Amino acid sequence: MTRVIVDRNAGFCGGVRRAIRSTGKLLSGGPAPGRIVSYGQLVHNREVTDALAEQGLQSVASLEDVADGDTVVIRTHGIPPEEERALRWRQVEVSDFTCPRVKRVHQGIVARCKEGYRIVIVGDPLHPEVKGLLGYAGDSGVVVSKAEEVRGYTDRRKIAVFAQTTITPQLFTEVVQAFEQKGLEMAVSNTLCPFVVNRQRWIQRFSRLVDASLIIGGKNSSNTRKLYTLASDNGPAYHLSGAADLNLEEILEYPLVALTAGASTADSTIQEVLAALQAAGAVIEHR
Ligand code: SF4
Repeated sequence: MTRVIVDRNAGFCGGVRRAIRSTGKLLSGGPAPGRIVSYGQLVHNREVTDALAEQGLQSVASLEDVADGDTVVIRTHGIPPEEERALRWRQVEVSDFTCPRVKRVHQGIVARCKEGYRIVIVGDPLHPEVKGLLGYAGDSGVVVSKAEEVRGYTDRRKIAVFAQTTITPQLFTEVVQAFEQKGLEMAVSNTLCPFVVNRQRWIQRFSRLVDASLIIGGKNSSNTRKLYTLASDNGPAYHLSGAADLNLEEILEYPLVALTAGASTADSTIQEVLAALQAAGAVIEHR
């Protein structure tokens, strides 16, 4: 019989929950003068975006696709200030659902820029959150995605280091230590999101104790992919978008399985996976 240990904090983080709830309110708030559009996919979760699309939410990939009269939803990752200014100059309504934690990083970067620091952002340069953070740093910003990149860093100006909220503590520490070895004057702001860090710690701990790990979440969700990578480091791991991806025959071969989910995974998706496992005879425990 397979025992499945479930992370009791798996599922939507506070920022995603807030963005979905607020967008739902906008969509049910009666007729709007134009379309309600999210700038980029609101969350990396097909089920949620399909449900919101049914209520009328459209998604645009570029600001050029926004029309006058539209209401533009800014998602949790935030956007660069120049894009926000461009939107506010237009005949559009802006509903800003940037996560408050990301907003605090924006404010921290602006404050350090005023103090004359060069801004170092540790994260993925292609991630929308990092593009937003870099926008607040202006000409003073640089993105570092791994410690080895610090070797070629020759600027001697004082630096302020910030983290993309969803990276691993290990990556942040490695980059900070690499800069410390350069002997630069440094101000370090640990801006990692506790929601994400707790989940990463959970899977790091439990994936060592079990025979296999299940990670539920969108294939394009960066925090879900990180959970999967951490679990894979310690043994067999499976990244599922939902119950349809579950290979029950294979999973039930393992006596002990750990299960968690990314920050944009709906509770209903987790419940569907658990129901399928239970129906096949697995025992579920929450830790
Ligand atoms: S992961 Fe953290 S920072 Fe990102 S949206 Fe969720 S609560 Fe906000």
